[in-house]
Amino acid sequence: MGVTTSRRRHLTGMSRETQIRVLIVGGGFGGVYTALELQRRLGRDREVQITMVSRDNFLLFTPMLHEVAASDLDITHIVNPVRKLLPGVSFFDGDVERVDLDRRTVVVAHGSDSHTHELPYDHLVIALGSVTNFFALPGLEERALTMKSLGDAIVLRNRMIALLEEADTECCAAIRERLLTFVVAGAGFAGVETAAAVNDFVREALRFYPNLSEEMIRMVLVHPGEVILPELSESLGRYAERKLEERGMEVRARTKVSAVTETSVTLSDGTTFAASTLIWTAGTTPNPLLAMLPCTKDRGRLCVNEYLEVPGWPGVWALGDCALVPNGASGAFHPPTAQHAIREGRCVARNIVAALRGGSRRPFAFRTIGQLASLGRRTGVAQILGFNFSGFIAWWLWRTIYLSKLPRFEKKCRVALDWTLDLVFSKDLVKFLTATGVTISHPPTERVEAATVALATAQG
Ligand SMILES: Cc1cc2nc3c(=O)[nH]c(=O)nc-3n(C[C@H](O)[C@H](O)[C@H](O)COP(=O)(O)OP(=O)(O)OC[C@H]3O[C@@H](n4cnc5c(N)ncnc54)[C@H](O)[C@@H]3O)c2cc1C
Repeated sequence: MGVTTSRRRHLTGMSRETQIRVLIVGGGFGGVYTALELQRRLGRDREVQITMVSRDNFLLFTPMLHEVAASDLDITHIVNPVRKLLPGVSFFDGDVERVDLDRRTVVVAHGSDSHTHELPYDHLVIALGSVTNFFALPGLEERALTMKSLGDAIVLRNRMIALLEEADTECCAAIRERLLTFVVAGAGFAGVETAAAVNDFVREALRFYPNLSEEMIRMVLVHPGEVILPELSESLGRYAERKLEERGMEVRARTKVSAVTETSVTLSDGTTFAASTLIWTAGTTPNPLLAMLPCTKDRGRLCVNEYLEVPGWPGVWALGDCALVPNGASGAFHPPTAQHAIREGRCVARNIVAALRGGSRRPFAFRTIGQLASLGRRTGVAQILGFNFSGFIAWWLWRTIYLSKLPRFEKKCRVALDWTLDLVFSKDLVKFLTATGVTISHPPTERVEAATVALATAQG
């Protein structure tokens, strides 16, 4: 769709009806970086109206999520408000309910009564991400904690503190074992970083709980593969395993969670142990909303061409975790990571601008630069441009690289300050009482919903 010269002459006094509408659904890495690039290239072009719809009004920096759970970073320091990031974009805080590709509209539920709005578009960018996959294991979705959203990190932090408080009192001695057993399922980046962070948090907190000791804590990392962190080389996976075991963690390879109850976890090797907490990072699946779209999909992800267009639907683009993006160089597909979603976002924006202004589209091409995992206690593992790093240097690279990637100078300063103060002070043990809004998988009796009101039972 090109913007003709005659239309350009009518720029001044242009009504909303005559504007070209670019609608981005999803405010994660893919959506925000598409909008940032569009804002940069089209910021002053009044012919184009850019709108973003997302249920969160912030961009969550997921690589640092485990640091919020482990009380290393303040809750709001790893999120950036969309309105501050994208002053040239209209933001619509709502839940996408339906995408009608034939009528070129998106239905969005919004407000406390969830009334709906119908938003028309000329170009639609689908960046709805993925959701946790519970593989239909009975009881798992209701009982497991997940590690995907800011709310998840807050809930996990609260859960750890609540369990330490409960286990410390004598009346709970009989059920201490269950309260102090933490199982993490899945040993990809999210699982390993979360397991390391939980382990450090709980063990470091023990000195404030006089009735608890190291031997009472049980941390189990369960994974189906031979070695953890399968995305990295085997030697780095083995190094990470060794480090976690040195810190008291049990690493169970070639094992899956086969059953979960309110009070226990059973593994595929037949072991059952009493555990109050199962953290599930063992799989994701594309956003279920995509199932209703009449386009080609592969295991739930939208198939796109090398320009990130959805074939057969002109003006519809998809990227990030919800899209299956062909890799022209390898003949395979690009992995669903933030570093890919960011570059795909820029590519979609360039191609939309080309479609609007009549230029030529560019195919998406990107090679993973590196992958890094923080293992806590100033150790990490990293594979960058084919080189392996482990220990302090990898941890330092993790912090330096991710700090540089965190959007906005203000948030960089806040995180750097948190990390500096961390050298002097111990981790905070304040439980957050939560109010409204964020969905949490949790037993009802222990349910806390994420928000920001601190319950003043502070000890740290
Ligand atoms: C704990 C964790 C750690 C990670 N660490 C790394 C890392 O170190 N490096 C790396 O490269 N990648 C990492 N990733 C992966 C990375 O976060 C994802 O690949 C990336 O977020 C994908 O971007 P996206 O835009 O496709 O989806 P997302 O970032 O998930 O964004 C999807 C957006 O859509 C919104 N949304 C969804 N459904 C609706 C709806 N119905 N209505 C309105 N809005 C909706 C969501 O609120 C969200 O804002 C990590 C992921 C996790 C969970």
